[in-house]
Amino acid sequence: MDRNLVNILGYGVDTFSMDEAVDYIVKNHGQVVTINPEMIECASSNEDFKRVIQDAEMVLPDGIGIKLGLKILGHDVARIPGIDFGKALIKRAYYLKKSVALIGATQDVVENAVVNLKAELSNLNIVYYHNGYFDDNNEVYNELLSHKPDLVLVALGAPKQEMFISNIKSQLPDSVFIGLGGSFDVWAGAVKRAPKFYRDIGCEWLYRVISEPKRLKRIFPTIPLFLLKVIIERFKSK
Ligand code: UDP
Repeated sequence: MDRNLVNILGYGVDTFSMDEAVDYIVKNHGQVVTINPEMIECASSNEDFKRVIQDAEMVLPDGIGIKLGLKILGHDVARIPGIDFGKALIKRAYYLKKSVALIGATQDVVENAVVNLKAELSNLNIVYYHNGYFDDNNEVYNELLSHKPDLVLVALGAPKQEMFISNIKSQLPDSVFIGLGGSFDVWAGAVKRAPKFYRDIGCEWLYRVISEPKRLKRIFPTIPLFLLKVIIERFKSK
């Protein structure tokens, strides 16, 4: 299966279903970006980040903002939340007996995430993990180069995690890399994921704002402005 991209403000977004996306990236390897409006906004003033997103081997529509934006442009795509896709990749790695590395979050969080993942998938082959608070990328890169994990999960927040991945991916051409934001915190049990009800109606963001009000700053005015830009793009292309 080939990629089928739809465009939003200059970024190609893949239209795979969850299963197709797992199949594609496990076969083709490379970097998965789970894109959201905050990342597009950040990339508008950061050329390097912009190029990293555009050069990614897969770009998945993570949040409701991207889904809405694509809808305005006439594309109906399924949301693929990064945390769910990350878990699907881990499960695939488990069944294929592939190796996994986790990089990111605090020491407690990454340790607990490893313990919980191994409890859920016994003998999951986690060959390396490291917390996300390090000054010297090279030390972590060298560990990755020596372990050559098939799947590398990086949770440093955007754009740090995407830049971190892009600087190493060419040296590990057979690996799959994905930036996963706050997912380790959820897997560690340190942060609760939004209940299914919120997720089903596309309001996971609302639950996260209620439980962590400082997130509001990240959403407003970024998301309304993003949607405004999308509406302008829509009219320009008519
Ligand atoms: N983080 C990290 N190193 C840093 C900054 C952040 O490991 O230098 C971790 C942080 O502990 C958290 C994750 O990155 O686990 C960022 O989560 P955030 O909620 O910002 O991500 P989102 O899911 O919103 O993209």
